[in-house]
Amino acid sequence: MEGAEEHDIVIVGGGISGLATALALHRKGIKSVVLERGDSLRNEGGAIGILANGWRALDQLGLSVSDHLRQTAVLIQRSGETRCLKRGYLINTLANALPSKTIRFGCTVISVEFDSAVTVLHLLGGKTIIAKIVIGCDGIRSVIGKFVGLNPIKQFPHSAVRGLTNYPKGHNFKHEFIRWMKDDCSSYVGRIPIDDKSVYWFVSQKSSLLDTKTWKDHDQEHIRENTLEFLVANRFPKEVLEMINMSEVDSISFTCNLKYRAPWDLFFGNFRKGTVTVAGDAWHVIGPFLGQGGSAGLEDAIVLARRLSQAILGCDDERNGETVMKRVGQAMDGYIKERRRRLLGLSTQTYLTGIMIQGPQIFIKVLIVFAMIVLFRDEEGHSKYDCGRL
Ligand SMILES: Cc1cc2nc3c(=O)[nH]c(=O)nc-3n(C[C@H](O)[C@H](O)[C@H](O)COP(=O)(O)OP(=O)(O)OC[C@H]3O[C@@H](n4cnc5c(N)ncnc54)[C@H](O)[C@@H]3O)c2cc1C
Repeated sequence: MEGAEEHDIVIVGGGISGLATALALHRKGIKSVVLERGDSLRNEGGAIGILANGWRALDQLGLSVSDHLRQTAVLIQRSGETRCLKRGYLINTLANALPSKTIRFGCTVISVEFDSAVTVLHLLGGKTIIAKIVIGCDGIRSVIGKFVGLNPIKQFPHSAVRGLTNYPKGHNFKHEFIRWMKDDCSSYVGRIPIDDKSVYWFVSQKSSLLDTKTWKDHDQEHIRENTLEFLVANRFPKEVLEMINMSEVDSISFTCNLKYRAPWDLFFGNFRKGTVTVAGDAWHVIGPFLGQGGSAGLEDAIVLARRLSQAILGCDDERNGETVMKRVGQAMDGYIKERRRRLLGLSTQTYLTGIMIQGPQIFIKVLIVFAMIVLFRDEEGHSKYDCGRL
């Protein structure tokens, strides 16, 4: 293919998963290129809770990364290390730890095809990139996921508004995650301190609060006003109303109908085609009910880089491309096998929690409670997982 750029490893998407995967590979001495469609790094959503399993994965990316992030967020009282990070800090810290020119902005992958032994990525604007290995970290509407044959994602009839509030003189809140729930559990507000002056909050409710137009227009002031009206009408406490009223309007974002990949799709799905695979939300978007989506993406990065490095580095037949590519395919299968079990647990627990929040009929409720007791007796067991060393 004349004029096409060639790379060994291309990661599509420069979100948490894509950057963590590039960094994990870099720590193993393996070069990659990250193609990001935006003109800069994205940090919508304000902040993100990282649980103990996520911190274990971040530690594997280097203490210069994890310890730096620890200094930006207080420790939340909960079993295991939990902190809430500003998304911008997390994304920028990962990006800054990468060699310069790793991330290529303004590169939207629109289609993928195989040509002989390589993968060809077609970009918006007509450019073509050839890669030996492709990792799709391109989020919920993944072009790479479609190429490997993933089923469409599903959605919960719940939406979320998220934002940050800064208290210039300090907030004096305890370092804990607080949740205010409407009596019928159909909506709730969560608050988690980031540091002693700022908090991250979210409001989750059935999807009718804001119309699609508001979302499309991204009118953050309108979203805040609608959210306040909803909270007043549903008699949420004064301190919640004050928090939303004082929020930084630029930090507000709205997600209409939270998305998930069904546990059965994760069980039966095929997540590799040749030497192309997926990671992060592109593979396993789960609802935010456990606060584990981002941490699961960090775990993917460690496991995938570990497996790929075993296949690529120090192999006697390194010059024999075909054999190395065969080993890469096997390494990807190993990655998928190792991660599938973990992700099945996470997605099932999130899925059941998501159904419960919708207020199902009583017999379904009983079934879910029974399943939760049998499968997830330790409600926080998901954060005790250790993805192992890089
Ligand atoms: C309301 C809500 C609350 C949440 N709270 C938490 C929480 O507290 N803790 C937690 O761990 N997780 C949480 N999550 C989940 C978490 O935000 C996601 O799991 C995480 O951001 C996924 O990261 P990612 O890199 O896989 O995907 P994304 O963040 O979606 O990144 C994908 C990147 O790929 C780029 N891209 C997309 N398509 C293309 C293309 N075709 N070509 C090139 N680039 C492309 C995008 O621009 C983007 O930068 C929450 C999610 C929601 C909706």
